[in-house]
Amino acid sequence: MRNEHLGNMKTEKHFEDMPPEEFRKYGKELIDWTANYLNGIEKYPVLPDVKPGEIKSKLPKSAPEESEPMENILADIDKVILPGVTHWQHPNFMAYFNSTASGPGILGELLSAAFNTNGMVWKSCPSLTELEETVLIWFRQLMNLPENFSGIIYDTASVSSMHAIAAARESLNLGIREKGMSGIPKLRLYCSEHAHSSIEKGALTLGIGLDGVTKIPVDTEFKMIPAELDKAIQRDKANGIIPFCVVATIGTTSTTSVDPVNEIAAICAREKIWLHVDGAHAGVTAMLPEMSGHFKGLERADSFVVNPHKWLTVPVDLSILFTRKPEIIKRAFSLVPEYLKTAEDSVVTNYMDYGIQLGRRFRALKLWFVLRYFGISDLREMLREHIRLGQLYASWIDEHPMFERLAPTPFSTTCFRAKPDGWEDETKLNQLNEKLMNEVNATGKLFITHTKLNGKFTIRLVISGLRQQERHVKDAWQLIQNTLNKFVKN
Ligand SMILES: *Cc1c(COP(=O)(O)O)cnc(C)c1O
Repeated sequence: MRNEHLGNMKTEKHFEDMPPEEFRKYGKELIDWTANYLNGIEKYPVLPDVKPGEIKSKLPKSAPEESEPMENILADIDKVILPGVTHWQHPNFMAYFNSTASGPGILGELLSAAFNTNGMVWKSCPSLTELEETVLIWFRQLMNLPENFSGIIYDTASVSSMHAIAAARESLNLGIREKGMSGIPKLRLYCSEHAHSSIEKGALTLGIGLDGVTKIPVDTEFKMIPAELDKAIQRDKANGIIPFCVVATIGTTSTTSVDPVNEIAAICAREKIWLHVDGAHAGVTAMLPEMSGHFKGLERADSFVVNPHKWLTVPVDLSILFTRKPEIIKRAFSLVPEYLKTAEDSVVTNYMDYGIQLGRRFRALKLWFVLRYFGISDLREMLREHIRLGQLYASWIDEHPMFERLAPTPFSTTCFRAKPDGWEDETKLNQLNEKLMNEVNATGKLFITHTKLNGKFTIRLVISGLRQQERHVKDAWQLIQNTLNKFVKN
């Protein structure tokens, strides 16, 4: 114990928090540290040069028995932690899908830790509930969704989609809530071959099983083929299987392809099947009028997930599920024990009714900070600039004789590979491109990742990070060309 206070007759010990003066001192130090980190981010290698186990080996095997000075803890951030950090905030992070955090987002996160409220029910923090409701109405407007959609914040798109699939199942009215899955006819969910693995994980979690997921083939642009979807549904119905959910994706993870939501929605409407749309990464571009073509028919979906924590500079984690049928999510999950009943239940939103978790963080704060600090107009400009840079990179690939593009670039992600003159053997091309990616990443100057398209090793380059500018894209392109030139002479 740090603070011992002597009582009258006996020694009493009080556990006390960090004193305010100390909190102020280290708080300011840490904010300074953060400002310097973000301002100087480009001096770090984007990928750390560490072996598995290396960071663990520098950490004590058990927790300290006695208090440690804050100086020592902060010193270890630089000494032990930083060398093993992959710098997601780095503008040369062009891997996966970016998640970058802006200043206002970070400050919003700080404040949510300071309040440390738990938004189980309205009563447990009215501001949490009502700010979330308000900010999600703003966001619904940005997404051009009609007023009959309402939103709820979950941690990740995986969890949002799992709740959507659960609602789809509940909408069948098969009494699964009471009886579970035993004795239920086989249920089927459909998504494209390019849907995110989280859809199958949702099906796993809910007892649908991987067998309960049918992957619909895609066309040459990696978009789901609606006629194939229809065929699969009819085949299942003829065999006594119940089609209950279709997941379409706007911006698939490998190529950012866009499933034809409007045509898929028509099939779902005819067959009365729940349509969930996964826009985890690209969904935020619904706020750009010029992208509206990708979102045609979205208003006909039953649910839609979008992650402001990916492209919109909100720190992880913050995913929004919009749905036209919140009452069905509530029917699937609401279970109110006596100790959580409140006098306001009939007039407020109690977010615990809309999912498996009881406690929830004050996530809306950081989204509110970001939307207000930048304003929608600047956020739109950021998205537009990333799309411009993505298109620019794609055009460089198209113009270069030693490279080829392997998928359309509807947003700002380019799928490409090196294909030098005379290289025809697909196995050798795969080896060449894997080597190219690994050598580029080993420089620490750029981080890119890959996928496989029709058996071809495909490099992805993603522009959706807050700090990415044209010079970073140019440098990346130069580095990729130079690296290839090192082991392929033309
Ligand atoms: C990133 C992504 C996901 C998963 O997102 P999490 O929030 O990490 O669960 C799901 N679907 C698509 C299309 C994605 O891009």
